[in-house]
Amino acid sequence: MSPRRLDNRSGLSAGLLAEIQTPISTEPVDSLYELTGELGRGKFATVKRCVEKATGKVFAAKFLRKRRRGRDCRAEIIHEMAVLEIARNNARVVNLHAAYETDHEIVLMLEYAAGGEIFDHCVSEELLPEAQITRLIKQTLEGVNYLHQSNLVHLDLKPQNILLTSLSPPGDIKIVDFGLARRLGAVGELREILGTPEYVAPEILNYEPITTATDLWSVGVIAYMLVTGESPFAGDDKQETYLNVSQVSVDYSKEAFSRVSELAVDFIRKLLVKAPEDRPSAAECMSHPWLWQHQFCLSPEPATTHPIRERSCGFKWPVPPKHTEDKENFLNSPISVKRFRFDEETPATGDSDL
Ligand code: ADP
Ligand code: MG
Repeated sequence: MSPRRLDNRSGLSAGLLAEIQTPISTEPVDSLYELTGELGRGKFATVKRCVEKATGKVFAAKFLRKRRRGRDCRAEIIHEMAVLEIARNNARVVNLHAAYETDHEIVLMLEYAAGGEIFDHCVSEELLPEAQITRLIKQTLEGVNYLHQSNLVHLDLKPQNILLTSLSPPGDIKIVDFGLARRLGAVGELREILGTPEYVAPEILNYEPITTATDLWSVGVIAYMLVTGESPFAGDDKQETYLNVSQVSVDYSKEAFSRVSELAVDFIRKLLVKAPEDRPSAAECMSHPWLWQHQFCLSPEPATTHPIRERSCGFKWPVPPKHTEDKENFLNSPISVKRFRFDEETPATGDSDL
């Protein structure tokens, strides 16, 4: 559990990746695609659904303005493309199909995630069953683990940036929005890469070094939101939110966690800790028993055909006590006797010096 760090000693554009393989075409997007409606919008980007005229295939076109706040940001868009290219072989990261450029914009033609944001499942009247939530968190961790192994940190993981391939039943996840992603070991200006207040880790607020563990905090926030339908740190204003984050003021009350399993609480508690070095890595998280307790519920085959085998990752999770009046003691509880193995396609990292 020794997360690698991103130094913050130098200027903003330092550390941006500049090498891309995808050609940037100057052909007008609307000559090749039919635009069929808006999918989402951020500060500097609009994402539209579009259909490729030649093939009938659906894509999501992310229109990114090159000038932002009076500054040329083309290099940042190229960086976003470069990150997507590095993650091209991972199914949990959205695929970059093509890129186009006009005088004012670059358009990233992305794989279309038809199921929308997992955010919708966090604010819905009807929350997802835990078996679905653990499946989505496991997939998110697979993507995050891949990024970390590729020396990348996302730095803007939140329910709006985790999409689904289909809505009902919920499909597989696709991680999007690599605008804030950074390469580990590169230099960057920490204050400029502040994410969304509700989801940023305490080390970002305290101007401390960014590490892979910074993304794991956000995974904890996402898990909290999926199981409770509440945002753990949201205050009435930005100031209050920052205070909640820096004090790690989290509501684990019975009201917030009615009908939530003890293992879910344990998983979230392990991630929402102030010291980044005390958070488990993505690979370690994938062996947490919460993520494996429901693994047969979504499978049509009987459980007996899938015996649980020991997994090779060495991290051991303490089992939370059955009757948990005092949840603070979770961290001190004895080492689990059960160890688990994660998906074949996920690279095993052994001890987590990612
Ligand atoms: P920003 O950098 O402006 O936040 P994002 O890449 O996060 O841009 O895209 C904004 C929103 O557009 C997302 O939150 C999501 O709702 C939608 N969106 C982005 N990419 C896709 C995609 N590949 N498929 C479907 N919707 C998408
Ligand atoms: Mg976004």
